[in-house]
Amino acid sequence: MITPAESLARVRAQLSGSRLYTAAQIAKVIGLDVGNVHRAISDGRLKARMRGPFMCYGHQVVKWAAKRAAKVKKGSGVTVVANSKNAKLGQAAVTIVARQSCPTSCAFHQKGCYAEHDNNRVIWDRITAGAMEATPLDLARAEAAAIDGLPGDRDLRLHVAGDSTTDEGTRLIAAACARYVERGRQLGLAVRVWAYTHAWRTVPRDAWGTVSILASCETGADVLLARARGYAAAIVVPEFASDVAHEVDGVKVVPCPQQTRDRVCTDCRLCFNDARLAGATLAIGFAVHGWGSRKAVSALRRVALPMVA
Ligand code: SF4
Repeated sequence: MITPAESLARVRAQLSGSRLYTAAQIAKVIGLDVGNVHRAISDGRLKARMRGPFMCYGHQVVKWAAKRAAKVKKGSGVTVVANSKNAKLGQAAVTIVARQSCPTSCAFHQKGCYAEHDNNRVIWDRITAGAMEATPLDLARAEAAAIDGLPGDRDLRLHVAGDSTTDEGTRLIAAACARYVERGRQLGLAVRVWAYTHAWRTVPRDAWGTVSILASCETGADVLLARARGYAAAIVVPEFASDVAHEVDGVKVVPCPQQTRDRVCTDCRLCFNDARLAGATLAIGFAVHGWGSRKAVSALRRVALPMVA
C-alpha cells in the first residue's frame, strides 16, 4: 500500500498534464485498485472525458491525487466502534487496525483479503495512511488504549481488519480485553471478546489470555499444527460440501451459521468459546464468497491444492 503523498509524487513524476490516461493506467501509477478509480470517476471526485474506457487528463489526475494527499490526517492507526451494528456480527463493538498489523505471510495478504472491500477498505485505507510510521507494537499499544475507552457493554470483535503479530503487543491487547470483560461484568453483562489471527505460527496462544482466538487456517494440516500450538481453528474453504458439520481435508468443520443460516455472531456465539471448539476438535468453516472470491480461491489453490477441485 502506498500513501496518498507517495502516489501524488508518482503521479507528478509519471503523468504528463495534457495527455490522456485510462483508468487502468491511472490505477497503476496511483497505487490503487482500478475499481477505486472507477468509483472516483463515477462520483465526480476525478474528472474524466468519458471517452473510451474512462480517459482522464494527467492534470486532472494530479488534482485528484493532491486532494487525496491533503485529506490524510495523522492518527494512531486504530479505530474502534462501540456498536458496529454490523449485518454479520450483530450488535458488537469492533476494532480495526492499520494494515501493517497483519502478517505478510497470510495467504490472502493483498490477494483476496475479505477486509479489502467496500466501507471496510475505505476505513482501512484512511487509518493506515494516517499511521504509516507505526510499528505493529505501536499499533497494539494504541489498540489497547482504544479498547480501554470502550464501555464494555457488548461483545467485542477484535480486528475486523488487522491482526497482532508480536507477543508483547498481543499481551497488551489481551490485558485491555480482560479489563473490558471486567467492565461488562460490573454492568451485570457476560460480554465476550473474540478474534481470528493469521499470526498463530509465531504468537503463542497464551499471549491472547482470555480472548477467544481462532487460528485462521487454509489447510487441514495447518489446523492440526494450530491445535498443537494450543489454538482452536477456523478454516477457509472454496465452498461447503454440506451446510452441517462435515470433514474437510481431514478435520471436522462446522460451516459458519452466518453463511449457511443467516445468523449473526452475537446470536450464534460459536466462535466465542475457543476452548470448547478446541476440546471438541471442531474447526469453524468459512466459504469464500462475494467480493475478492476469485483472488481468494487462487490464494487457496496456492496453499491448499488438495482441497480445491
Ligand atoms: S460461527 Fe457463529 S460466531 Fe463464528 S463467525 Fe460464524 S456466525 Fe459468527
